[in-house]
Amino acid sequence: MRLVDSHCHLEFPEFAAELDAVVARAREAGVGRLLTICTRLSKFHEVLAVAERFDRMFCSVGVHPHEAAHEPDVALERIVTLAKHPKVVGIGEAGLDYYYDKSPHDKQQEVFRLHIEAARQTGLPLIVHSRDADEDTVALLREGAEKGGLKGVIHCFTATQYLADAALEMGFFISLSGIVTFKNAEELRAVIKTVPLDRLLVETDSPYLAPMPKRGKKNEPSFVKHTAAFAAQLFGMSDEAFAEKTTENFRRLFKKAHVA
Ligand SMILES: [Zn+2]
Ligand SMILES: [Zn+2]
Repeated sequence: MRLVDSHCHLEFPEFAAELDAVVARAREAGVGRLLTICTRLSKFHEVLAVAERFDRMFCSVGVHPHEAAHEPDVALERIVTLAKHPKVVGIGEAGLDYYYDKSPHDKQQEVFRLHIEAARQTGLPLIVHSRDADEDTVALLREGAEKGGLKGVIHCFTATQYLADAALEMGFFISLSGIVTFKNAEELRAVIKTVPLDRLLVETDSPYLAPMPKRGKKNEPSFVKHTAAFAAQLFGMSDEAFAEKTTENFRRLFKKAHVA
């Protein structure tokens, strides 16, 4: 079986002591490619170092909305330049988080816009984080989409039908995290079922949000198989067919992760 973990945070201190073992377990679980995600430009060199250490491990470059007001020197040219590295296959994660509200909304929007522009200029997919901010997320993405050349994924999708429909209309993908397996996620599952199979990705968002039956534990990329198996059932497919489909989708979106 061939799976991808399209979103994890492997440079986080939670993994420092056992990174080799974590990646080995992911390979054993059938996870071919891994995408480790940048949240702060000031940590980019650490994220890149992890990606460079392993085969078929890639990374992104960007600033998480929590950090929007706390990162110095977030400039478009800097992101575009860092994105030229062969291991960098996406822009983000970037977006809006009005749930935790760790940065003022206007600052979050300013930094998000800059990432949308970086994605357009580089042609790399934008990895979008959106929480309790559906309307503004859609408005800003539409601004970028209208200028053309914008593609990407709504990661760890937990949002409304409104965001799903708007994202799909703009050609975006929707990525499922362990949350889809949680007992109380009935509403989310109803939205997910409306997403065409050729637009779905799977992720762990490790070290957070471990799927059932690992809920409450530290999450790691090998656990993406639980989320994928759960989603396969939701769509009435075999685990193998679902894995193949989502891996093929990843290949279509993250083209640079398949060059060389
Ligand atoms: Zn996120
Ligand atoms: Zn993340």
